[in-house]
Amino acid sequence: MKIKIKDILSVLETLAPPNYQESYDNSGLIVGEYDTEITGILISLDCTESIIDEAIKQGCNLVVAHHPIVFKGLKRFNNSNYVEKTVIKAIKNDIAIYAIHTNLDNATNGVNFHIAEKLGLENVKILAPKKQILKKLVTFCPKDATEQILDTLAKAGAGQIGNYANCSFVSEGIGRFMPLEGTNPFIGEKNKLEEVKENKIEVIFPSFLENKVMRALREAHPYEEVSYDIFLLENYNQQVGAGAIGTLKNPIEEKDFLKYLKEKMQLNVIKHTSLLNKEIKTVAVCGGAGIFLLGAAMAQKADIFITADVKYHEFFDTENRIILADIGHYESEIFTKDLISKVLSEKFSNIALKISEVNTNPVQYFQ
Ligand SMILES: [Zn+2]
Repeated sequence: MKIKIKDILSVLETLAPPNYQESYDNSGLIVGEYDTEITGILISLDCTESIIDEAIKQGCNLVVAHHPIVFKGLKRFNNSNYVEKTVIKAIKNDIAIYAIHTNLDNATNGVNFHIAEKLGLENVKILAPKKQILKKLVTFCPKDATEQILDTLAKAGAGQIGNYANCSFVSEGIGRFMPLEGTNPFIGEKNKLEEVKENKIEVIFPSFLENKVMRALREAHPYEEVSYDIFLLENYNQQVGAGAIGTLKNPIEEKDFLKYLKEKMQLNVIKHTSLLNKEIKTVAVCGGAGIFLLGAAMAQKADIFITADVKYHEFFDTENRIILADIGHYESEIFTKDLISKVLSEKFSNIALKISEVNTNPVQYFQ
């Protein structure tokens, strides 16, 4: 079977739906067409000109990168900066670029869960769950259609709350309607007010599944004109959000933990605040620039918060209540390549999947 770009994206977007991305982000297919057949996939952290060169050399016509090469609108294509150069080279060589950025950061089993796994953390959960990504469907149906509708909605992914599936609420009431000319009512007659005992069904679903859930509702509902409401919820979704927090099986002395961190994440150097003379048990992590989560890490009593891109004055904000460790942006996210590779290789056994060997870190250390 020929594998197209859209087949690859459908697997990646099941793990990290595009609408999990932050508003400033530009995750998605940046260059290329969905129907292009795949010759090979190159997985990288950044997408620079050298990565496009590597893709050409490796015979890969799709680059899956964590960081989007394009964030803002491009108005000219003059090869005048590295962004334009990369995009032009990709287009000239028929290489597609796909970015899976903050949607992968925000996904359970995404970037931060992968870091947590590397550090051997247990009981891992999202550090700062996200809101406004859940919706509620309310619909009304004849009583004997209830089971079928609930079942179809559940199969479409509605009614999942944490580890509970098929969650719904059903209540009874009276539905009133009058079929007009041109209708073919399931119940009742034209131009006659009808009263029917109906059930009201309420289910929640992640907003990216809206089209699928609505298709399922129309398929299962017997009425010609389905009555429904969709609400955007303010609830936090515990499965989606920034950072991760978990615990070590056995507490580790601070210096030993820093050694352990250095080894597991293959670090040259760790910038950190003063040690607090207590063991490390609870660990919060956020790959990339995650200082905005310091408050959440402290509120959840993490002993250490591991992230990157911390500014001088932000180190003061810990006020000796937590150790803050800056391990470098590139270093904190480099293993995201392995995560993407693992997800794709589990689904596509016969596709050329390469992990980039180019070091794109713009930061160098003089030792
Ligand atoms: Zn990053």
